[in-house]
Amino acid sequence: MILPKPNRLSAEQLAEVTAIATEFGCQIQPIIGAVRTIYAIVGDERDDLMINRLEGLDYIDRIDRIQSPFKLMDRRSDLAKGKLTIGGVTLGEELFVIAGQCTIDPKNPNYFYETADAMKVAGAHVLRGGVWKPRTNPYTFQGDNKSLDILMEASRRTGLPVDTEVMDEEQLKLAIDAGVQVLQVGARNALNYSLLRAIGKAIGNRPEISVLLKRSVHMGPLNEFISAAEYIAAFGNPNIMLCPRGTTPTLDGYRNHPDESVTPLLKEKTWAAVVVDPSHSVGKAAYVPAAALAAVAYGADGLCIESHVSPSHGIGDDPKQSITPEVLTKLIRQAKQLWTIQREAAVTVS
Ligand code: PEP
Ligand code: MN
Repeated sequence: MILPKPNRLSAEQLAEVTAIATEFGCQIQPIIGAVRTIYAIVGDERDDLMINRLEGLDYIDRIDRIQSPFKLMDRRSDLAKGKLTIGGVTLGEELFVIAGQCTIDPKNPNYFYETADAMKVAGAHVLRGGVWKPRTNPYTFQGDNKSLDILMEASRRTGLPVDTEVMDEEQLKLAIDAGVQVLQVGARNALNYSLLRAIGKAIGNRPEISVLLKRSVHMGPLNEFISAAEYIAAFGNPNIMLCPRGTTPTLDGYRNHPDESVTPLLKEKTWAAVVVDPSHSVGKAAYVPAAALAAVAYGADGLCIESHVSPSHGIGDDPKQSITPEVLTKLIRQAKQLWTIQREAAVTVS
């Protein structure tokens, strides 16, 4: 829908707009109001170049798109009928939990093995463990390929599928070859379209592999988040979980601005499961349970939580934001109860 700055387009302006639309196989249909006339674009309006050219005209106020720019991730797509099952849980049918350390310490693997056992006992469905880490400071620990062996050994010991972040194609290949079932795209790389495409290609015909796509701190409109997922889904594997994890500017006192309230908005646009990360959102262990429960109250399908058997011995984010397995156990119990209440409330309201 084209909204012009003047109340209606002059004959020359309408001719110019029509010429652009025609180039892209569309037509223009004026909708005449008492005061203002707006102009419908009839046809497939998804070509960004057409929209950019129309928006570039100085007499155009804005273009409101009616069609979704993401055809696969759209709620109305056929993919909405599919179900994603990981670690024995079908998302949307019960609360799904990913939990484990921010970072695996390759020098002290026993902490990770103990954490892995504790995550299983606490009720997590997927074990997380950072092998390669995106660090702001280039002189801090960046990760270690050795940690991948530790992660997979923990997976064998517990029987849990594992989640780890990949930041480039080399890590992607190593992770897939090792048998990682959930590939995490971090907040810093969620806008790295080459990486998203590479992941899509690599798992296009690997339905046993899923992606946890974090929301970038630099993402604005939610369409940007969903379009990032479309990059992956375009290659044939729709196993994508969207993960709000806090944005900037921060809320004073928290690490980021907690954004779990975007869940209902995402669900209006896409069928994808929403798995919220309260740990990076608030950045402090003491605040994690409340943020996790808030996420569930907003309709999250799952949670991704950092937890460590001995947070003070952890590396990366663990000393400040990992909760202990005892806190996690209680939190999962409460979150499951709230999840049931939330789903019942949602059915009553809709
Ligand atoms: C993480 O999960 O440890 C991490 C680095 O997350 P994010 O990309 O959300 O900062
Ligand atoms: Mn972390």
